[in-house]
Amino acid sequence: MHRAVGMVACPSCGQRTAERIGAIYSTAGQKDAGGKSIDDEAALWRCRECFLLFRHPALPQEELNSFYVTGSRPGWSYQPALRTDWQTAKHLIHSVLGRGTVVDIGCFDGTFLAQLGSSYEKYGVEPNEKARSAAREKGIHILARDVEEFCSLGRQYDIIVAFDVVEHFADPLGLLVKLERSLAPRGLIILSSGNADALPWRLMKGRYWYCSLPDHVSFISPPWVRQAARKSNLTVISMTRISHAITRFRYLQVVAGFMMSAIYLISPHLIRMLRKIKKAVTAGRIAMDEFAPPVWRGVKDHLLVVCEKK
Ligand SMILES: [Zn+2]
Repeated sequence: MHRAVGMVACPSCGQRTAERIGAIYSTAGQKDAGGKSIDDEAALWRCRECFLLFRHPALPQEELNSFYVTGSRPGWSYQPALRTDWQTAKHLIHSVLGRGTVVDIGCFDGTFLAQLGSSYEKYGVEPNEKARSAAREKGIHILARDVEEFCSLGRQYDIIVAFDVVEHFADPLGLLVKLERSLAPRGLIILSSGNADALPWRLMKGRYWYCSLPDHVSFISPPWVRQAARKSNLTVISMTRISHAITRFRYLQVVAGFMMSAIYLISPHLIRMLRKIKKAVTAGRIAMDEFAPPVWRGVKDHLLVVCEKK
């Protein structure tokens, strides 16, 4: 259903100046508390005031939070060598901080912190119990289960990292403001998330695969980062366009992703047919949502942001 500009309030700044960018195809499982599907109306919107792109309607923040307590996804296990954001952040931390405190928001099993070496006091915030246990086994001090609990500690740290976190918060500016309060003077925040300004995203609009995940509700971009930093007492040090994971087949993946996306734009039914053929050929070993947008691997559709506390 198309809605006129101004009918939907931005979940972050509250202004009713959002414009509808396009429908979102939601992958299975997106239901509200009453079990009713909210897929039909899901669309991508852009706030003209703060430049945030957001999913509307979206699951309430409490439901999203409970999903992270129990949920898991194959993509949540990591190979550090393939993660561009991790590698860049690791080199930055080593170059600016010889010793000190590093907090990973959404540290999962502590893999990122563990690879930093023994010169740092390593802290994690993680809602998932199994992941917390795994992180503790790697020597990570778990501070809290969520950001609220973390901020209530009232302590300050040298560096806070948050990889693939802001897209799960309906109010990413609110998150940034809270994290800034937990930073020591001249401390750094390093975050990564999808970049809604990236070319593939602008081509696919609400049909970009990153939007189809029901727990992805907010989508940032360089204009959003610049205004959010101003409002949260931070200076933007750098913004780098990155690919989430780099493999040696990157260029092949980019071309394949382009072709699959073009076919998807013509008709999701064609993609469904290709998937059915693939499933038959591989003896049904691929479990997937048949109408989901194809993942466009290898493209620089993420942003790595470094901000310093003023
Ligand atoms: Zn806004």
